[in-house]
Amino acid sequence: MADQAFVTLATNDSYARGAMVLGKSLLNHNTSKKLVALIGPQVSEPCRSVLKRIYDEVKVVDVLDSGDTAHLAMMKRPDLGVTFTKLHCWTLTQYSKCVFMDADTLVLSNIDELFDREELSAAPDPGWPDCFNSGVFVFCPSMETYGKLLQYCTEHGSFDGGDQGVLNGYFSNWATADISKHLPFIYNLSSIAIYTYLPAFKKYGGNAKVVHFLGKTKPWSYTFDPKSKQVSGRAQDSTHPTFLVDWWTLYSSSVVPMMQEQYGDKPFVSGCVESVKLQVSDEVTFESGQVESSPSPPQELQPTMSSEERKQKWEQGQADYMGVDSFDNIQRKLDSFLK
Ligand code: UDP
Ligand code: MN
Repeated sequence: MADQAFVTLATNDSYARGAMVLGKSLLNHNTSKKLVALIGPQVSEPCRSVLKRIYDEVKVVDVLDSGDTAHLAMMKRPDLGVTFTKLHCWTLTQYSKCVFMDADTLVLSNIDELFDREELSAAPDPGWPDCFNSGVFVFCPSMETYGKLLQYCTEHGSFDGGDQGVLNGYFSNWATADISKHLPFIYNLSSIAIYTYLPAFKKYGGNAKVVHFLGKTKPWSYTFDPKSKQVSGRAQDSTHPTFLVDWWTLYSSSVVPMMQEQYGDKPFVSGCVESVKLQVSDEVTFESGQVESSPSPPQELQPTMSSEERKQKWEQGQADYMGVDSFDNIQRKLDSFLK
């Protein structure tokens, strides 16, 4: 159907890499829908070129430069920059129905059947199941809805600081009004569910159609060795390693060659590709990092956890006993207080 599309968003090169993998995963599972990527002005040229090869439409959304109601709304709520950009998906009125997918999602099988659903269909959020998770949702583009969403956003803000808070505020009867708008969890399986409800994950996880790498650490924050298919970093304790390997396998086999083509013989020096260093040996390793990556050794590029995240891990019984949370470290800390 030409008037139906999957839509994603990437405001920078890191998320652009996610969008590339997502688009590839949709194509690999033979979607019959159009693919649209909304991008921010900061996304670099090489990343745009690669996105254009995967997506039917790559649309730059510059909220700051739009001079319209979104710009005005943004002036009032500068904290909601990415959220306003995401809301732009409602302006894609050349499509009658769309499925929005976060750039940190990965499709594991054909999900075109989602287009049988109505606005606003989404899966429950694992943290608060009376809210929907806004990583995957079915919507109908409409300038009227777009205007109302912006108005809602400016008046009420977002209770969680992001788009999920705004959308749950606006589509507030989702939890109770119509069960057909509740997507099964397998359309937005967040890695968090693996340790919050392991038996259910073991029973149903194999049916997953979409994995969502929700949370601070994204697939592109890890390092990967395609030869041994090993993901390193803190992969083992936050995300199911199989899904991470799926993401990296697709990234290294399909996306990296396209980026290499963009650069020809030139070394990767800027943008998303700066963080991909192909070593001379036949063993290819990827150094993961942000655009402004520093020349520090690879182990320092691996994700570090904030105190808050560490506290959460502790409370979930997942202390890093042999590492940062080791007895020695705790004793040192206590000693420093006692002194
Ligand atoms: N996003 C983006 N740039 C950002 C942050 C977010 O483009 O700096 C987009 C991207 O599509 C991302 C989505 O907004 O997948 C939601 O953010 P994220 O996935 O990081 O939130 P989470 O799912 O972890 O709550
Ligand atoms: Mn996400």
